[in-house]
Amino acid sequence: MNNLFEKISKMLTDKNGSAFFYLDLQHGEWDCAGFCDDLAFMKSDTLDPLDAIYESGLIFSEDIKLFRRFAYRVRSSGADGETASMKFRLTMDGEPRWYELSVVFGSGENSSSEVAGRIHPMSEKEIMDHQILELYTNDQCPDIFTEKVEKRLTEDTQHSYAIIQFDVVKFKLVNDRYGEAAGTELLHHFLDVLEVFCGEDRIYTRLSADIFMIVTPYETTEGLITFIRSMEEALSGYKGMSYNFVFGVYIVDERDIPSRIMGDAAAMARQKVKGSAMENIGFYDSAMKISLKRRKLIEDDMKDALTNGEFKMYLQPKYSISGGDVIGAEALVRWLHPQRGMIAPNDFIPIFEQNGFVVKLDEYIWERACSLVRRQLDEGIEPVPISVNVSRVHLTGEDFIDFAERLIKKYDIPKSLLELEITETIENINANRMVREAKERGFTLLMDDFGSGYSSLNNLKSTPFDVLKIDRSFLSSFMESERGQKIISHTIAMSRDIGLDIIAEGVETKEQAAFLSSCGCDAAQGFYYSRPMPEEMFMELMERTHRGRLVNE
Ligand code: C2E
Ligand code: MG
Ligand code: MG
Repeated sequence: MNNLFEKISKMLTDKNGSAFFYLDLQHGEWDCAGFCDDLAFMKSDTLDPLDAIYESGLIFSEDIKLFRRFAYRVRSSGADGETASMKFRLTMDGEPRWYELSVVFGSGENSSSEVAGRIHPMSEKEIMDHQILELYTNDQCPDIFTEKVEKRLTEDTQHSYAIIQFDVVKFKLVNDRYGEAAGTELLHHFLDVLEVFCGEDRIYTRLSADIFMIVTPYETTEGLITFIRSMEEALSGYKGMSYNFVFGVYIVDERDIPSRIMGDAAAMARQKVKGSAMENIGFYDSAMKISLKRRKLIEDDMKDALTNGEFKMYLQPKYSISGGDVIGAEALVRWLHPQRGMIAPNDFIPIFEQNGFVVKLDEYIWERACSLVRRQLDEGIEPVPISVNVSRVHLTGEDFIDFAERLIKKYDIPKSLLELEITETIENINANRMVREAKERGFTLLMDDFGSGYSSLNNLKSTPFDVLKIDRSFLSSFMESERGQKIISHTIAMSRDIGLDIIAEGVETKEQAAFLSSCGCDAAQGFYYSRPMPEEMFMELMERTHRGRLVNE
């Protein structure tokens, strides 16, 4: 006992405003002394000093867990002379204020496990030092997290890894509805859940207020989704509150890129599904691979490019396999950039779809297409229909149908000569409605990219298309095996059966053309016949072949 008090008095030298306490863990006795006013609540007959602090409700919510852990550690006792300390905040006069709690363990005359402790308000300098240290040692510090992640990804090459980011949809509303304290407590609860869920195998961090990130090994995509769903369940419904999550997933395919970039990729995937009523898990995909820098360059130049006429309409003719005539053409945009040369649509359309500019660009291309049809009519060539691509952005409203109608009037052309290629209408009720509306108003509708994963049989069931366009990847990959060929031939038979016309895209070889023809598909578009070409070349082709008949076939 003497030994212990010596240590205590040494510890207390020159400390003003401190409170100190004594706890006999074996006999459940305690005492407190030297309280400054703030800490008077610690003196209680029924609660020991640690419980008194805990029960006071004054511990700042973010530090509650830390305090609980520390109290547990103290009660488990320590070796004679061992010390331990922690820094935490108490809410005093509505403001969190920093305190340090230090204990020394001892074995006295009456008991084998005693604890003497001191609690004191920290000086400004102590707080600064502590916070700086925290920044470098805390698991929740992004720098430490980054290091850990990079180490894990280089060392553990046995497993595949994914990066998951999630946040609460409109977290501000949670604060408004339940109060800020409840909001903070909720975020704290998420960390508790993540600790349990992540264990040793996974690494997690809190990136900012309500954004969390987890690095996890996985075996299959299904397994990964199951993990996310069970984590979502554990995170949901805390104390009856109602809130939802969005998750973004980046599958680590290159381990040597900085983990910060991987985090950005997961963030982009998360942003993609924000606002979607159907889905709350987004996967990073190739459309997002376009670097942010490239995106900026493109966005800086796009408006001027439109006024300067840098966007050109190219046309890829469609052919009848049996007759060899040109039976139509698809309008495809090209960007002839004064410095960077020709840019392919896959490099800018996804960006324009995200920022909405695609609407303006499409309207421009549609107008060029109508004007081309007019030229065919004016020059006495028997005209073929031109199909234009309708971006999914259009399908959110009916303006695009009105716009197409106005063009048809303006150029005075038959409606049947402007066809619409539409890709994605899956499970999107509004898009489905728009497609129906376009059909009712007399437009010819082509389902683009059938078999690419976007368009599907389901789509066909619910949406009134006229023509099915077999995607080039579907054609090339299925052509390779006998089974694949069967699938193609049955797809063709099925679509004919339900009264759909069919055209194959991306026909590159004579064999493909012959095979399609043998299956009953007579329309083809692809490099075997012709690459997309500028408007003038297309007009020359039309004139040369009279209504498109190939001279050399
Ligand atoms: P899409 O509508 O499926 O267009 C067909 C794409 O396949 C075109 O690529 C075409 O050049 C390419 N292609 C045609 N035949 C072959 C072939 O035999 N082999 C190969 N490897 N490729 C072939 P492009 O022009 O690069 O356009 C890519 C996509 O960009 C288009 O796919 C379409 O979704 C979009 N796009 C192009 N122009 C426009 C536009 O004006 N508006 C909108 N919204 N999207 C456009
Ligand atoms: Mg198309
Ligand atoms: Mg296509």
